[in-house]
Amino acid sequence: MTRCLDESDIVMVEEGFTTKDVLENLLLEVDQTGNREPFFVADLEEVVKKHLRLLKALPRIKPFYALKCNRSKGVVQTLAGLGAGFSCANKTEMALVKSVGVPAERIICASPCKQLSLIKYAASQGVQLMTFDNEVELGKVARSHPSARMLLCLATDDSRSSTHLSIKFGATLKTCRHLLETAKEMKVEVVGISFHLGSSCPDPQIFTQSIADARLVFEMGAEVGYKMHLLDIGGGFPAFEESRGRFEETSAVVNSALDLYFPEGCGVEIMAELGRYYVDSAFTLAVNIVAKKEVTLDQVSSEDEDPGGKKSFVYHLNDGVYGSFGSVIFNNACPIPILHQKPSPDQRLHSSSFWGPTGDGLDRLAEGVDLPELHVGDWLVFENMGAYAVPPSASLSSGPPARIHYAMSRVAWEAVQLLWGKLLHTEEEEEEGRESACTPLSCGWEITDSLCAAPVFAPASIM
Ligand code: PLP
Repeated sequence: MTRCLDESDIVMVEEGFTTKDVLENLLLEVDQTGNREPFFVADLEEVVKKHLRLLKALPRIKPFYALKCNRSKGVVQTLAGLGAGFSCANKTEMALVKSVGVPAERIICASPCKQLSLIKYAASQGVQLMTFDNEVELGKVARSHPSARMLLCLATDDSRSSTHLSIKFGATLKTCRHLLETAKEMKVEVVGISFHLGSSCPDPQIFTQSIADARLVFEMGAEVGYKMHLLDIGGGFPAFEESRGRFEETSAVVNSALDLYFPEGCGVEIMAELGRYYVDSAFTLAVNIVAKKEVTLDQVSSEDEDPGGKKSFVYHLNDGVYGSFGSVIFNNACPIPILHQKPSPDQRLHSSSFWGPTGDGLDRLAEGVDLPELHVGDWLVFENMGAYAVPPSASLSSGPPARIHYAMSRVAWEAVQLLWGKLLHTEEEEEEGRESACTPLSCGWEITDSLCAAPVFAPASIM
């Protein structure tokens, strides 16, 4: 049975709270204890809202959460309780979702090139859904997981996305027929097609192209003798805050392309594996300045040159790229701090650079940021830090990862409990072999954009 988050793990706050309120309270506490370690505030209500928004905007899609984006316990258990599925790339991720009781039907092993031990582990856990893009992988699966149900992963045009996965993953259209024929010879069951556009895909039309390509490969599959019935459109959806309309714009393009190439009633189920969309805006990080140095002009790089004769400062923080700022390396993020103490308008600005705590030259977070002079012990706040940033365990950075304080309003918590109750009921019915009914969500959780009115509860298991 799927387990949800425990109430004791959450800072319960008033409805309408802001992350800033929670952060302020925590900073007050921290000032009393003197513990100046970095920490996150994770607004789980934001994750819940994202899930409901997704069900409303993309009603045909079963959402799977891509754990590689952020596998913090609060996110995993909240989404598990809401009935999302999970996309895992390794054994640790699969073990994590199994440990919160997520049934194997709600898990996909979404790496097209897997270590043999991962394939065997998936088999032992009953996880059948997997991706492939080459013959060698088919051979491994045929030998070690004969009941696997495979999705052929297509290469996409990810040239404009912030990560380029098609360099290493995905079969070209030219190779698909051969791969399908080989799978047939090896008696490997191919149930559908997957693709991933790379993170933060800026052009929704690329979804249309990839969905059209998938249609072609479904036809090839039929010619080879497969009855494929599952399309996985991967991740790449924008985090909502990047610009308010972009998620809805992308969803509209995806819905139209699905209606064109995979119309309702065609017998194909649609799933997606979203990461960034769910978590980016939910996490805010607070870090402390541990050392500071004033630099003279000849010490700063040409980019930092300051002809106006202002001072320049180098600040060392207690978190860096090997800890919570992994996104600086992963997708060239350029984190800009918000000052905890607001500067007065007449304070002079100085070119400032920020470095993590290791002696590594790569551990550079930002350069040339114009800020008033800061001091050792000051707090800096970084917003939108939920995607590809939250370190899963002790990092190279020095010491334990930043602690996460989860926050949610009581009313959102009650909505999650309601949804979780329905999920458990569905799971019980399925265990007893009864057909489960999807019940409309009516949780009475009135929030600004009345999210609760539309979504329908849809646990993400794929047949
Ligand atoms: N699915 C796969 C196979 C991925 O590799 C990734 C991220 O790299 C995702 C889903 C999540 O992508 P995003 O964070 O853009 O939603």
